[in-house]
Amino acid sequence: MALIKASNLSVGYRGVAVCDNISFEVEKGDYLCIVGENGSGKSTLVKTILGLIPPVKGKIVKGNELNQNEVGYLPQQSESSAIFPASVDEIILSGFQGRLSKRFFYSKKEKELAAKYIEKMNILPLRKKLFSTLSGGQRQKVLLARAMCACERLLLLDEPVTGLDPLAQKDLYRMISKINQEDKTAIVMISHDIENVLEYANKILYIGNEVFYGKKEDFLKSKLGIAFAEEKNE
Ligand code: ADP
Repeated sequence: MALIKASNLSVGYRGVAVCDNISFEVEKGDYLCIVGENGSGKSTLVKTILGLIPPVKGKIVKGNELNQNEVGYLPQQSESSAIFPASVDEIILSGFQGRLSKRFFYSKKEKELAAKYIEKMNILPLRKKLFSTLSGGQRQKVLLARAMCACERLLLLDEPVTGLDPLAQKDLYRMISKINQEDKTAIVMISHDIENVLEYANKILYIGNEVFYGKKEDFLKSKLGIAFAEEKNE
């Protein structure tokens, strides 16, 4: 069974759709990129997947493997995240907060998992530092480790490299790909960056006046894919 399956979904606000006819499936190990012009509804779809707003029509079904509150989410880089008066360790462990319920402390297993992701992200030397003192690229890696703590089965990433310099962008893409390959974590990523989308994704969801969902190879052969790639490469 798929981790997420959306059928004939319309997303929007207060009953008014900004995008219709969205259907897609995310399975273990998938790397799905959501592309489309500005204002086409990508962020609205992400909010709908996260359950922050209800679908206008249709539904999103989450597989048994995924609890309702189990999605690792990495928002766009924002200045507000830089003011957390917390250490890197604390930020990463806070990924488990959704599972704490009545407990006040993180379990040994949670601490071990956090340590595993810290190592995977290559951020061991940053552990004790204040989050606010880190560079943009370092912050995104920390938030990626936190998202893995929240859910190692599925990560939802909203333009995660925006605002980073080219080297930091490449580094973050590599990290995301490593998680996808090694842990079979499913990735759902909004991206404007067609080059990297083509390098890493196995599935594409294009939303706009027309909607495409399918394998990357089929998108590239489609009229929509050709037009999109040409426009982005201009
Ligand atoms: P994208 O992420 O593809 O750039 P968005 O999902 O942000 O697009 O926006 C899709 C449309 O929804 C836009 O026309 C935008 O103005 C509108 N929109 C975004 N947020 C809201 C909101 N909170 N209430 C009503 N309309 C919104």
